[in-house]
Amino acid sequence: MRNTLTTLALLMAGTANAAPLSVATDIPPVHSLVSMVMGDRGEAVLLMDQGADAHDFQLRPSQARSVANADSVIWMGPELTLWLDDALESLRGDGATMALLDIEGTVHRGYAEDHEGHLHEEDAHHDDDDDHAHEEEAHDAHDDHADEAHGDHDGHDHSGDDPHAWLDPENANIWVSAIAAHLTALDPEGSEIYAQNAMRASIDLENLIAKTRETLAQSHDTPIVVFHEAYGHFAGRFDVHIAGSIAFGDAAAPGAAHLSELRHQVEEEGAKCIFAEPQHNAAMAEQIAEELGLSVGMLDPMGSELALGADLYPALISQMATAIATCQEG
Ligand SMILES: [Zn+2]
Ligand SMILES: [Zn+2]
Repeated sequence: MRNTLTTLALLMAGTANAAPLSVATDIPPVHSLVSMVMGDRGEAVLLMDQGADAHDFQLRPSQARSVANADSVIWMGPELTLWLDDALESLRGDGATMALLDIEGTVHRGYAEDHEGHLHEEDAHHDDDDDHAHEEEAHDAHDDHADEAHGDHDGHDHSGDDPHAWLDPENANIWVSAIAAHLTALDPEGSEIYAQNAMRASIDLENLIAKTRETLAQSHDTPIVVFHEAYGHFAGRFDVHIAGSIAFGDAAAPGAAHLSELRHQVEEEGAKCIFAEPQHNAAMAEQIAEELGLSVGMLDPMGSELALGADLYPALISQMATAIATCQEG
């Protein structure tokens, strides 16, 4: 009798909350981490088009409806996907959201650390200015009038926090438990499932980190050149040396002054490889490679060419490590 009643109570509780949890996410790696923790219990929805530029995207009406209707939106934060910031405010009101960059324990890195001495030709403050000592002062100045000064790469900010923080798997490891806690708050009955999935994900991520270190064991001394300034988190975690990047942190097109600075850095530091990205035209990387005698590789920091789902994130990290190691050996 008691058993029957308990079963009945469980069934009724189940039907009262019948629709499975739906969580919207901004980019494929976040979609992947949420999928790891949700398992089959709910559905993770990717808001942007896979393969689009995450820094510059506009929601279609159907995607805006997902923002409005999801039980929660889990995203990196306005530092990466600013296009989602206004949508969250106007479409969700007080609805649940979680920004991963705000999770306690997340490792933050500034753009400026690996990055010295590039010039903006658009920026009048240091146009034709070869004296790098003025750079800091000039950047303070252009913060005050960023809108006028930045022309076609307006809004980029290489002095702030680098939001590509998912490229450090230690961050992913912190986030899976935060995601489990967040999902549990929305769906308390799933608590045990989320906790178990997060624990399994955490073990997988530890293994991924160990495997990635092995893949990159010989990769510490050969500098690489990347397409946009997205790889500081990965490089910092795995001790890879980045000699420079073609485009800035928001992937906006570089000017001629930056490119000549980059050529100079590459020659000085002895880089061997330059990496294009699938969502951006490879012509510029190929041209620089030809001029400077570098090999061309491909890095896909968004997993834009991988199958969506729980397996995307580990594949993304492994693929990047293999691409770097292979190109350096080549
Ligand atoms: Zn600037
Ligand atoms: Zn980026």
